[in-house]
Amino acid sequence: MDLGLQGRRAIVCAASKGLGRACAAALAREGVAVTITARTAEVLERTAAELRTATGAEITAVPGDITTEEGRAAALAACPDPDILVNNAGGPPAGDFREWSREDWIRALDANMLTPIALIRAVVDGMIERKFGRIVNITSASVKSPIPNLGMSNGARAGLTGFVGGLARQVARHNVTINNLLPGPFLTDRLRSNSAQAAQKSGRSLDEEIAERAKSTPAGRVGDPAEFGEACAFLCAASSGFIVGQNLLLDGGGFNATMG
Ligand code: NAP
Repeated sequence: MDLGLQGRRAIVCAASKGLGRACAAALAREGVAVTITARTAEVLERTAAELRTATGAEITAVPGDITTEEGRAAALAACPDPDILVNNAGGPPAGDFREWSREDWIRALDANMLTPIALIRAVVDGMIERKFGRIVNITSASVKSPIPNLGMSNGARAGLTGFVGGLARQVARHNVTINNLLPGPFLTDRLRSNSAQAAQKSGRSLDEEIAERAKSTPAGRVGDPAEFGEACAFLCAASSGFIVGQNLLLDGGGFNATMG
């Protein structure tokens, strides 16, 4: 299927590894010129080189913390008029909400709600003028089914979801879409480090712990980040302009409901 994205430009935030990287790779394979960001310059540059070799696409690496004004300004300077924006950042820490300070909450809101909103604000009017825009926010399955010890993630991401649910309906008539992708367990560094912590508590090995996570999904496995990237590229397709304000769960069926 040709997604009709050849020659488009994208910013994919937090994309040196994991789900962000997979989205960048899938878009690059479609002929999109992709600007990727992450804080660790060396890993980011390596990823950019690998994606260039694998896809032949133009890949620009912009090191920086996307949750800061400077990090966002650097990404936008490298790609001032993106046709596609994929919002992503690290998730907030787990824990007991009694131990979280106001500053902890502000950091979580900055990363998982206010940063995507700031980037949308910076690019959406240009997309409206050009009559094409695809915005995909990487959120979490926890938006639909809260994870008890990830309260800051549950809260901040739900806030973003509410905001973009309203905005998506204001911009859709201009062929600008905003949708959210909700990952369940995908085999990334984040899942590995969360599983390593769980393994310490349970006394299981890391592999056994990941196998336990896999058993918890009806699909009987954890997700491959490449699958996530393909779903992102599909939402960005030229022919996806009628998919508006959706929250697409990619969780192997983990959310148990008659309708998703
Ligand atoms: P990952 O494998 O740890 O990769 C995170 C990527 O984001 C890295 O490239 C990292 O590079 C970059 N990054 C993190 N914070 C950043 C920041 N402030 N500015 C710029 N880049 C930043 O994580 P992942 O599994 O792909 O997760 C991506 C998002 O999906 C997270 O918000 C996570 O909570 C959410 N999620 C993941 C899963 C899952 O199963 N994997 C499930 C639900 C939700 P640097 O560290 O060098 O910046």
